[in-house]
Amino acid sequence: MQTTTATQDTPQEGHDAEPAPRPLAEAMKRGLRLRCPACGIGKIFYAYLKVNDYCPHCGAAFHHHRADDAPPYVTIVIVAHVVGTLMVINETFWPDSPVWLQMMIWPVLTIVLSLALLPPIKGALIAYQWAFRMHGFENPATEKRPIETGEPLTP
Ligand SMILES: [Zn+2]
Repeated sequence: MQTTTATQDTPQEGHDAEPAPRPLAEAMKRGLRLRCPACGIGKIFYAYLKVNDYCPHCGAAFHHHRADDAPPYVTIVIVAHVVGTLMVINETFWPDSPVWLQMMIWPVLTIVLSLALLPPIKGALIAYQWAFRMHGFENPATEKRPIETGEPLTP
Protein backbone atom coordinates (compact mmCIF):
# COMPACT_ATOMS: atom_id res chain seq x y z
CA MET A 1 0.00 0.00 0.00
CA GLN A 2 2.60 2.52 -1.06
CA THR A 3 0.88 5.77 -1.96
CA THR A 4 4.04 7.82 -2.11
CA THR A 5 6.09 9.29 -4.88
CA ALA A 6 9.19 7.60 -3.52
CA THR A 7 11.81 6.68 -6.01
CA GLN A 8 12.70 3.08 -6.66
CA ASP A 9 15.96 2.52 -4.85
CA THR A 10 16.45 -1.17 -5.17
CA PRO A 11 18.55 -2.64 -7.95
CA GLN A 12 16.50 -4.00 -10.82
CA GLU A 13 18.84 -6.76 -11.97
CA GLY A 14 20.76 -9.01 -9.62
CA HIS A 15 23.14 -7.97 -6.89
CA ASP A 16 25.69 -6.22 -9.09
CA ALA A 17 23.29 -3.68 -10.61
CA GLU A 18 23.78 -0.10 -9.54
CA PRO A 19 20.87 1.31 -7.56
CA ALA A 20 18.78 3.89 -9.36
CA PRO A 21 20.07 7.44 -8.92
CA ARG A 22 18.14 9.56 -6.50
CA PRO A 23 16.88 12.98 -7.67
CA LEU A 24 19.03 15.57 -5.87
CA ALA A 25 16.99 18.70 -6.65
CA GLU A 26 13.66 17.11 -5.73
CA ALA A 27 15.11 15.62 -2.53
CA MET A 28 16.59 18.95 -1.45
CA LYS A 29 13.32 20.76 -2.19
CA ARG A 30 11.54 18.26 0.04
CA GLY A 31 14.22 18.72 2.69
CA LEU A 32 13.79 22.50 2.55
CA ARG A 33 10.08 21.93 3.23
CA LEU A 34 11.10 19.75 6.23
CA ARG A 35 9.74 16.65 4.50
CA CYS A 36 11.20 13.22 3.86
CA PRO A 37 13.51 13.29 0.82
CA ALA A 38 12.23 9.88 -0.31
CA CYS A 39 8.44 10.41 -0.23
CA GLY A 40 7.98 14.14 0.39
CA ILE A 41 5.14 13.45 2.82
CA GLY A 42 6.54 12.36 6.19
CA LYS A 43 8.27 14.90 8.41
CA ILE A 44 12.05 14.76 8.87
CA PHE A 45 11.93 16.37 12.32
CA TYR A 46 9.88 15.44 15.40
CA ALA A 47 11.00 18.62 17.19
CA TYR A 48 12.74 21.85 16.18
CA LEU A 49 16.01 20.20 15.01
CA LYS A 50 15.45 16.63 16.26
CA VAL A 51 15.50 14.21 13.34
CA ASN A 52 13.10 11.25 13.20
CA ASP A 53 14.88 7.90 13.11
CA TYR A 54 12.54 6.85 10.30
CA CYS A 55 10.10 8.64 8.05
CA PRO A 56 6.66 8.31 9.69
CA HIS A 57 5.09 7.84 6.25
CA CYS A 58 7.39 5.63 4.14
CA GLY A 59 9.83 4.33 6.75
CA ALA A 60 12.99 5.73 5.13
CA ALA A 61 15.79 5.71 7.68
CA PHE A 62 17.33 9.00 8.76
CA HIS A 63 19.12 7.86 11.93
CA HIS A 64 22.47 7.52 10.16
CA HIS A 65 22.51 11.05 8.77
CA ARG A 66 25.61 13.12 9.58
CA ALA A 67 24.48 16.71 9.16
CA ASP A 68 26.57 17.56 12.25
CA ASP A 69 27.58 21.22 12.19
CA ALA A 70 27.11 21.83 8.47
CA PRO A 71 23.64 23.41 8.94
CA PRO A 72 24.95 26.11 11.29
CA TYR A 73 27.86 26.84 8.93
CA VAL A 74 25.56 27.28 5.95
CA THR A 75 23.13 29.32 8.05
CA ILE A 76 25.94 31.61 9.23
CA VAL A 77 27.11 32.19 5.65
CA ILE A 78 23.61 33.11 4.46
CA VAL A 79 22.62 35.22 7.47
CA ALA A 80 25.95 37.07 7.51
CA HIS A 81 25.58 38.00 3.85
CA VAL A 82 21.98 39.12 4.24
CA VAL A 83 22.44 41.12 7.45
CA GLY A 84 25.84 42.47 6.40
CA THR A 85 24.42 43.67 3.10
CA LEU A 86 21.49 45.34 4.84
CA MET A 87 23.87 47.08 7.26
CA VAL A 88 25.94 48.44 4.37
CA ILE A 89 22.80 49.61 2.57
CA ASN A 90 21.64 51.29 5.78
CA GLU A 91 24.98 53.06 6.22
CA THR A 92 24.94 54.16 2.59
CA PHE A 93 21.46 55.63 2.51
CA TRP A 94 21.00 56.62 6.18
CA PRO A 95 24.46 57.30 7.58
CA ASP A 96 23.10 59.21 10.58
CA SER A 97 20.78 56.44 11.73
CA PRO A 98 20.72 56.23 15.54
CA VAL A 99 23.01 53.65 17.10
CA TRP A 100 20.31 52.52 19.55
CA LEU A 101 18.06 51.69 16.59
CA GLN A 102 20.77 49.69 14.85
CA MET A 103 21.56 47.86 18.09
CA MET A 104 17.91 46.80 18.24
CA ILE A 105 17.49 45.79 14.59
CA TRP A 106 20.62 43.89 13.59
CA PRO A 107 20.95 41.45 16.52
CA VAL A 108 17.24 40.64 16.48
CA LEU A 109 17.23 40.17 12.71
CA THR A 110 20.31 37.94 12.96
CA ILE A 111 18.77 35.73 15.63
CA VAL A 112 15.36 35.46 13.95
CA LEU A 113 16.86 34.68 10.54
CA SER A 114 19.22 32.09 12.02
CA LEU A 115 16.47 30.29 13.93
CA ALA A 116 14.15 30.38 10.92
CA LEU A 117 16.74 29.08 8.45
CA LEU A 118 18.32 26.30 10.53
CA PRO A 119 15.56 23.64 10.13
CA PRO A 120 15.11 23.96 6.33
CA ILE A 121 18.88 24.04 5.79
CA LYS A 122 19.35 20.97 7.97
CA GLY A 123 16.52 19.23 6.11
CA ALA A 124 18.11 20.05 2.77
CA LEU A 125 21.52 18.79 3.90
CA ILE A 126 20.03 15.51 5.14
CA ALA A 127 18.28 15.19 1.78
CA TYR A 128 21.63 15.86 0.06
CA GLN A 129 23.21 12.99 2.00
CA TRP A 130 20.23 10.76 1.18
CA ALA A 131 20.40 11.61 -2.54
CA PHE A 132 24.13 10.80 -2.73
CA ARG A 133 23.78 7.74 -0.47
CA MET A 134 26.24 9.07 2.08
CA HIS A 135 26.80 7.92 5.69
CA GLY A 136 24.67 4.78 5.77
CA PHE A 137 22.11 5.96 3.22
CA GLU A 138 23.94 3.68 0.74
CA ASN A 139 23.19 0.46 2.60
CA PRO A 140 19.93 -1.15 1.43
CA ALA A 141 19.79 -3.14 4.69
CA THR A 142 19.50 0.03 6.77
CA GLU A 143 17.58 2.35 4.48
CA LYS A 144 14.12 1.40 5.75
CA ARG A 145 12.53 0.89 9.14
CA PRO A 146 12.76 -2.74 10.32
CA ILE A 147 9.41 -4.45 9.86
CA GLU A 148 7.50 -5.96 12.78
CA THR A 149 9.85 -4.66 15.44
CA GLY A 150 7.19 -2.73 17.29
CA GLU A 151 9.68 0.05 17.85
CA PRO A 152 8.29 3.56 17.99
CA LEU A 153 9.10 5.76 15.02
CA THR A 154 10.53 8.49 17.20
CA PRO A 155 12.56 8.23 20.36
ZN1 LIG B 1 9.18 9.24 3.64
